[in-house]
Amino acid sequence: VTCVAFCFALSYCFGSCDFARKIHANSPASGSDDLVMWSDVYTIVEATNDEIHSLQDQMAIPLEEVTLVLERSVADAPQVFRLPARYREELMARQVAVISNPPFYLVDPLIHERRASDDFAVWMSGYKDEVIVEKMLRRLARDYPDITALYEVGRSHEGRPIFALKISDNPSLDEDEPAFLFNAAHHGNELLAPEYVLDLARFMLSGRGSFGETRWFDFMYESTNGVGTVHYRRPEIQTMIENFELWFVPVVNPDGLHVAWNRGYWSGRKNARDTTSPRGRWNKGDGVDLNRNYPFYWNSGFEKASSGRPGSIFYRGRAAGSEPETRAIMGLAERQRFAVSLSYHCYATKILVPYTIDLAVSPNPNPAWRIGQELARAGISHRPVKRYTAERNLYAVDGTDQDWLYNRFGTMAFIIEGSYLTPDYEPRARRSIQGMRPLSLRALELYAEGPALIIHVVDEQNRPTQARVEIVEFDYIENEAFTTHPRNGRFDYFLNSGGDYTLRVSKPGYQWLETRVECQSGHCPVSLKLTPDPARPN
Ligand SMILES: [Zn+2]
Repeated sequence: VTCVAFCFALSYCFGSCDFARKIHANSPASGSDDLVMWSDVYTIVEATNDEIHSLQDQMAIPLEEVTLVLERSVADAPQVFRLPARYREELMARQVAVISNPPFYLVDPLIHERRASDDFAVWMSGYKDEVIVEKMLRRLARDYPDITALYEVGRSHEGRPIFALKISDNPSLDEDEPAFLFNAAHHGNELLAPEYVLDLARFMLSGRGSFGETRWFDFMYESTNGVGTVHYRRPEIQTMIENFELWFVPVVNPDGLHVAWNRGYWSGRKNARDTTSPRGRWNKGDGVDLNRNYPFYWNSGFEKASSGRPGSIFYRGRAAGSEPETRAIMGLAERQRFAVSLSYHCYATKILVPYTIDLAVSPNPNPAWRIGQELARAGISHRPVKRYTAERNLYAVDGTDQDWLYNRFGTMAFIIEGSYLTPDYEPRARRSIQGMRPLSLRALELYAEGPALIIHVVDEQNRPTQARVEIVEFDYIENEAFTTHPRNGRFDYFLNSGGDYTLRVSKPGYQWLETRVECQSGHCPVSLKLTPDPARPN
């Protein structure tokens, strides 16, 4: 959740007050098929066996609607039960203990079976924890060794690996190709977000097999739900795998995901840093909001954009980039210089276009707007009253990943807010995943469509070099200083529209270069060689 009313409720409700009730009061009328999250489907209560039997009688609750989700061995101890959400109000009126921040395994107890399985189809059949995600990534890397490489790009605060699956030809090499980042679960409790990333990775890989000549067939999501399929020609995916470097980080915040499943669902938004008392053990208010921890406009001072209070759900951390999970993504971005990044969240059904931070002034023109609006057009929300739209933000923010990526590397970086939070997996989650796929694929197509300058800069000895690149006609206000990648001298410069531009290239110790380039559509290659200038020392 990058935003929503109940976040604010939660920020002061992290203690004992029952905010599940507040959510419910703000939810659409029952029967509406708009926003759905797990708390609209289930309620979790603690009661003894005797109490639950008597409630079943008094409230006429059918036996099959009551699931024992945690059995305690002590006789007469309260057990934990899962019931349909529609009983919540009455259960609370009858003084039954409703657990407002349950670990998600109480909502979805089948997680234990999925985690124990070795069957890919079983893993795909429900929400995933960090253990299942790791198993899936290892399986994909094993099954497609020639076009995948699995990397550990960092470790979480509690020591869990942060994995990145790369899909490309020659995956162990850094080739002179544009890199794309698909990441999710900066907020660990947004269980639907990693699904979008895993689905896309699996889709790209499954498309490469030898079945069918004219369209991609995907066995994961298309077969049962009848809500339409994404047709995609195999040569297109083949070309993308050959020409792009696709990086998938389904779980940026594995500790938060672990917290959501095992300690408290709502607490899983943040990472697991020990930020609140009592110290030395996990508390439900612990953690840093990783999507407020990036250096660009960190702690901007803009009201409510983030919080300095360690118990807040928007706690920005002690310093910019203080968290190991943030640094893992920053390090990966520094190495790869992504052309495009999609960071998946839930559930506003929006594409957030940089700069999302109110105080930051976006470049003018800002090609990200055109791309963000195209992405919104491609997404299918499967929500009856809400379509994907492109917006700057949902409410005040600072220290977000996408703005840092855009400012630092010129990455076309978007937050993609999916269409539900954690709804019933069948059918809503599955539909939402399916509706996201054309949006994600559209990002790859838009890159290919351009217009964009594909710039390569070499030094006097024809070695690729890092140099600053700037289109003179564009206005930059936030000290953007885009540079070519030192490894291959490359920078992909997105344009707002076709036309003539003045490209300026500079590097200390070298003469400035200015050149006129025309680029109407597609990719316009520009190769430039720098000449040393003793008068301009390093
Ligand atoms: Zn989020």
